[in-house]
Amino acid sequence: MIKNIVVLGSTGSIGKNTLEVVRNLKDEFRVVGLSANSRWELLSEQIDEFQPAYIALNNGELVKKLKNRFSNNRLEIITGNNCLKELVLRDEVDIVVSAVVGAVGLPAAIATLQQGKTLALANKESLVMAGHIVMSLAKKDQILPVDSEHSAIFQALQSGRRDEIKRVIITASGGPFYDYPQDKLSDVKPAQALKHPTWQMGQKITIDSATLMNKALEIIEARWLFDLKTEQIDVVIHPQSIIHSMVEFCDGSVIAQMGMPDMKVPIQYALTYPDRKSLSVQHLDLSKIGSLTFKKPDMKKFPALRLGFQAAKEGGTVGVTLNAANEVAVQAFLNGQIKFTEISSSVEKVINNHLFIKNPCLEDILAADSWARQEITKCLL
Ligand code: NAD
Ligand code: MG
Repeated sequence: MIKNIVVLGSTGSIGKNTLEVVRNLKDEFRVVGLSANSRWELLSEQIDEFQPAYIALNNGELVKKLKNRFSNNRLEIITGNNCLKELVLRDEVDIVVSAVVGAVGLPAAIATLQQGKTLALANKESLVMAGHIVMSLAKKDQILPVDSEHSAIFQALQSGRRDEIKRVIITASGGPFYDYPQDKLSDVKPAQALKHPTWQMGQKITIDSATLMNKALEIIEARWLFDLKTEQIDVVIHPQSIIHSMVEFCDGSVIAQMGMPDMKVPIQYALTYPDRKSLSVQHLDLSKIGSLTFKKPDMKKFPALRLGFQAAKEGGTVGVTLNAANEVAVQAFLNGQIKFTEISSSVEKVINNHLFIKNPCLEDILAADSWARQEITKCLL
């Protein structure tokens, strides 16, 4: 039976890759809804090609342009602050691919799970902010990870049970500055930080990969998604990005998932799970690659990683505070207002000053999110 999907963030890096996967699996999936907040020309092309019934938009300018462009079309445009949530609630939706960037993904993720729909989750921020709430709503295999490391762990877990996990080993490319002199890191410019050695991604996650804050978010994501203790999570620097992560089981077996870096692989697996479908991707030729290398992460040079472990261990409102402060700090760095090294240091200050709540409800989470945004803005002035 054809499954109906919606793609939140369809004009972004994950969104475009998702539509490419769907384009090759036309007999399996129908796109019923799209949402984006940028690149209206690309969105128009996507509407022309996939003919969705709904578009969710919360950007007045884009709404106007699309209304003009598709005035004779049966397209329904859903607008307003809750448009993502309204879109996922439509009856015909089976699978929601959440590929928006940032905290805006949380309400839609919650609504998707509450309605019993499948959530293919790229938006790691939803789990970082409110992992305990999101996971309490999810039935087995209702959330399918799109993040490559978590997809790798999920795939490795097909070889054993969750209660047989000894630890997971999350790989990190190390980003563009892993071997850069520490005393020069404060002078790094946005253009340098936006050049990732192995992955092509949106701006926010590319900066997060350079500070290793992305790995911090992924530690927290893994903690919730696989119900792990912090002591069960290790990070190893693996610059070639061929091993996407590993699981060590209680008998000492370590299962790794490998492949050339291409987000279409984890995206497609999330959509077709438990089946696999053929996919045209670059073939992994290990003899050409020659060697795979590994290094211990340097938490002094990249303090964000330490904050990730702290947030995973302490839980409560630390994750939401870290995420919100980081979103603002990354934007400030991109705008040239702060130094590269100030991203992590100011996020740490905000975490240390925040009012910790051990078991926050959704309102507490949203309040901590807006507090952290205000607090870091003051810190950065
Ligand atoms: P991106 O910046 O390329 O795209 C983001 C998309 O979200 C765009 O379509 C944008 O228009 C839309 N968007 C932004 N704000 C919005 C809003 N307020 N309302 C509706 N739509 C909005 O980002 P990306 O690199 O594709 O990353 C998306 C998510 O996937 C992030 O959470 C990221 O951490 C995660 N992720 C990305 C990659 C990757 O390879 N790019 C890998 C793993 C996880
Ligand atoms: Mg990742």
